[in-house]
Amino acid sequence: MTTALIPLDVPRIRQDFPVLTTPFHGKPVVYLDSAVSSLTPLPVVARMGHYQSFEHTNVHRGVSTLSQEATDRFEEAREKVRAFINAPSTRQVIWTRGTTESINLVAQTFGRQKIHAGDEILLSAMEHHSDIVPWQLLAEDRGARIRVIPMNDAGELILDNLEDLITDRTRILGVTHVSNVLGTINPVKEIIRRAHAKGVPVLVDGAQAVPHIPVDVTDLDADFYAFSGHKLSGPTGIGVLYGRKSLLEAMPPWHGGGSMILSVTWEGTTFAAIPGKFEAGTPPIAQAIGLGAAIDYVRALGLDRIAAHEHELLAYATERLKAIPGLRIIGEAREKASVLSFVLEGIHPHDIGSILDHAGVVVRAGHHCAQPVMTRFGIPATTRASFAYFNTRADVDALVSGILNVQEIFS
Ligand code: PLP
Repeated sequence: MTTALIPLDVPRIRQDFPVLTTPFHGKPVVYLDSAVSSLTPLPVVARMGHYQSFEHTNVHRGVSTLSQEATDRFEEAREKVRAFINAPSTRQVIWTRGTTESINLVAQTFGRQKIHAGDEILLSAMEHHSDIVPWQLLAEDRGARIRVIPMNDAGELILDNLEDLITDRTRILGVTHVSNVLGTINPVKEIIRRAHAKGVPVLVDGAQAVPHIPVDVTDLDADFYAFSGHKLSGPTGIGVLYGRKSLLEAMPPWHGGGSMILSVTWEGTTFAAIPGKFEAGTPPIAQAIGLGAAIDYVRALGLDRIAAHEHELLAYATERLKAIPGLRIIGEAREKASVLSFVLEGIHPHDIGSILDHAGVVVRAGHHCAQPVMTRFGIPATTRASFAYFNTRADVDALVSGILNVQEIFS
């Protein structure tokens, strides 16, 4: 039996975001750029301020009460991440600076260990550059080869021949959970099952998924799952790499320094157990605590309610944008989340973005760090509106008026 979800109290939620009521080019800002970075709600800002003002010192060092309490708060944040993605253990939650660093960590440790000349790395056609370039660097270094899972014109991965693309040389498969350009929600659970059937581990880029849909890494059976705090209502400078315990334990460290060791002599070093082995130096403590507070915030709203709210907004926006002559939506997958990319006949996305900006409507224009996606659709760039739990139908209406105004200016 499914129970009806209580809708989000959006007017109340919006009070947590002062920027939404701060005039921007003389108008209230309409923030439709959460895919680039989400706004940070006041309780998260307050939690970080409190930590910095009253609780801060370094962690995992010293016997002072202050140091022990800072360590407790820092490790509590790791537990919040663990519970949020349903990881089996906090030892499998590694702090990084963001999705990009998480993927580089895997490429530079797991990749260097397992990928050799002639091996293959299989990536989807809709990856962000951060799930392409680290693998290209590795492939060049190792003499390995990158292969690509194609997509159709709707922006859905073509998975019919997946088993043919996974060869006995494939060492890892990388796939984004939600495309940052197309909004496509990929069937990652199915992809993981099929890759595992051929003995291949899967890295999931969850940067655009965790803010919008409930994620359960245990149910997905993901080998690696990466995401960023700043897209999840948290601060910049913090991200997460989840990994399967056996893989993480077998991987060599990558950054050397304090905290990641058990003992150091001039003869050599023995390394700390996971996750410490991958966390050299002073970690981003306030940022981790801020991410923990952000997780508290979105969990209190409810990921299922957030997903329902954003789904409704996406449907409304899609319908309204489709009615605009000369506008083409890029990415019409059956399963989509929170992202709406489009092109306007004869008008460059940068011009659209700039004119919308003057109307107080914040969108992103460009290739969205996914140039192979642009090439696939034969376009240089798109304009992208992306939705969050604080957006309203009025925000969509402002976007539509802005687009009509752009067309008027160029007519
Ligand atoms: N992957 C996807 C799908 C993204 O959308 C982004 C950021 O836009 C990233 C990775 C990179 O995230 P970060 O810059 O926080 O490392």
